Amino acid sequence: MPRLSVCGIQFSFLVKTNYLALLCLLLSLTMAAQPISFTVSMDNPAAHYFRVVMQCHNLAGKTIDLKMPVWTPGYYQRLNFARNLDSFAVTGENGRALAWEKTDDNTWRVHSNDAATLTVAYIINTRRAFVATPFLDSTRGYISPAGVFLHPAGQLHQPVQVIIQPFRAWKNVATGLDTVAGKPFTYAASDYDMLYDCPILTGNLEELPPFTVSGIPHRFIAYNPGNFDKAQFTNDLKKIVKTASAIIGHIPYKQYTFIAIGPGAGGIEHANSTTISFNGAALHSPEGRLRLLNFIAHEYFHHYNVKRIRPIELGPFDYDNGNRTKMLWVSEGLTVYYEYLILKRAGIAAEEDLFRNIRSNITAFETKTGKLHQSLAEASYETWRDGPFGRTGDSVNKTISYYDKGPVVGMLFDFAIRHETNNQKSLDDVMRRLYREFYQQKKRGFTEEELREVVESTAGTKLDELFEYIYTTREINYRKYLAYAGLAMDSGYQLTRMQHPDALQASILKTWLGEK
Ligand SMILES: [Zn+2]
Repeated sequence: MPRLSVCGIQFSFLVKTNYLALLCLLLSLTMAAQPISFTVSMDNPAAHYFRVVMQCHNLAGKTIDLKMPVWTPGYYQRLNFARNLDSFAVTGENGRALAWEKTDDNTWRVHSNDAATLTVAYIINTRRAFVATPFLDSTRGYISPAGVFLHPAGQLHQPVQVIIQPFRAWKNVATGLDTVAGKPFTYAASDYDMLYDCPILTGNLEELPPFTVSGIPHRFIAYNPGNFDKAQFTNDLKKIVKTASAIIGHIPYKQYTFIAIGPGAGGIEHANSTTISFNGAALHSPEGRLRLLNFIAHEYFHHYNVKRIRPIELGPFDYDNGNRTKMLWVSEGLTVYYEYLILKRAGIAAEEDLFRNIRSNITAFETKTGKLHQSLAEASYETWRDGPFGRTGDSVNKTISYYDKGPVVGMLFDFAIRHETNNQKSLDDVMRRLYREFYQQKKRGFTEEELREVVESTAGTKLDELFEYIYTTREINYRKYLAYAGLAMDSGYQLTRMQHPDALQASILKTWLGEK
C-alpha cells in the first residue's frame, strides 16, 4: 500500500478497488497497536514465586524467541535472571499448546507458526530481597522488571501493559510506570526500556505526604520503613531534590517516586524513580542520618547523571551481553561527589562532614596497592569482571574502586575549572552542558573525546594532567589542586582550610561550599 493515512478521495477509490486488502491492513494496524500484556499474580507469597501470564499479538513468524535479560541497568553484573524462570508453557489460539525449546541460557524459542495470539505462562522463583532481584514473601512483593518480564527478541520497541494482582491482603502498588485510567493496578510502558526501568513494589505500604518541587510531585513509598521523624525526613528529601535539580536547572520527569524496599543495602537509579534499601531507625543518629541522606541524594542525582547525562555506551541497552564503558568514573564517581555537595549546599551536612567524606575516599584509594596497577578508566571497563568495588581476595590487590578515586578526581577537576576561569565556571557547568548538548539536543550519550572537549572548553584550557589521573596510574598531586580552593591536606588525608588564602582561593572555597 502506498500510504497508511488513508483519507478522503484516496479512501473511496481504494474501497472500490481493493476493499479486502484495505480491511486486512486496517485490521492488522489495529491489532499491531495492541500492547504486549503481562498479568502478575502472587496467590501464595510465602512460597516465594510470582505467576506471570504474557500475551502477545501478531508476532509473525514460524518461530519467536522470547528472552530474559541477563542483567539490569544500573547494576553492572550478570544476574542470570533466567535461571529463576520455571514452568514455562505457551499456547496459541484456542488454547492449543505450542512446542518450544531453550536455545541458550536466556532464550525460549516458541514454534508459533504465525499464531495471531500467544499466551505464555511461567513462574519466577525468588531468592533474595535485593534492589536488583525480584523478591516475594508473605510481607511484600518486589518486581525487579528485568528479572520478571520476557521480551520477544528484536521487539524492545513494543508497548507493554502490566496488570498487578497483589496478594489479597495487600492494598498498595508503587512504581514509576504510568497508570492506565479506570483500571486498578494496571500500568503502561511505551517500550521495554521503560518497563525494565520501572521496578514495582506491592504490599501494605506506607506513603509519606507527597511534596512538589517546581510544581512537580515527588512521592516516598515504603515497605516497613520503621519509626522516625517523618516530617523532618520529608523536609530533608525536599531539600535534596531542590538542591540537586538546581544544579542542572531543569526537571525532566512528570513525577518521581522514591520506592523504599525495606532494610538492607543498595539502591538502583531509574529515570523517574529509585529503589532503595531503607531503615528509618538509621535516622536516629546524626551519622546514620547523614549516611542515609547521602545515599538517597546519590540515587536521586543519578536520574541526571547516568540516566540522562550518560556515556554513549550506556544506551541502547544490550540486555543479552551488558554494556561496557570506560566512563563509570563519571556516572558513579561524580555522583558520589555530587551527593556530598548536595547535602552541604542543602544545609543538611556541615563543612566537616564534606571533608570527612572526601578524606574517606582518598584514604581508601591511597592505602591500597591497586592504585599502582589499575586506572580509573580500566576500573570502569572491568567492573563486570572485578565487581563494583574492585576485586577482593587476590594475594595482591591490583584493582581500584571508581567510587573512591572517582569523586576525588571529580573534585580536582572542579577546583581546576574554577581556578582557570577565575571562579566563573565549575564542574556544575560541565554537567549542565552535557545535559543540554547531549541529552536534550543530540538525544544520545557522549564519547570520551566529547566529554574531554566539554570539560576543557569549560575550563578554557587543556587539562592533560587531570586526564592522566583517569587514564593512567600517575600519582595524584593533591596539594596543587586543593590549593586552588584554599585547602591543604595533612599526612592523614584530612582537608583543612589554608591560613591566609588569597581572594580567588577564598571565593572558590565559598562558592564550592555553597555559602552566600
Ligand atoms: Zn550510583
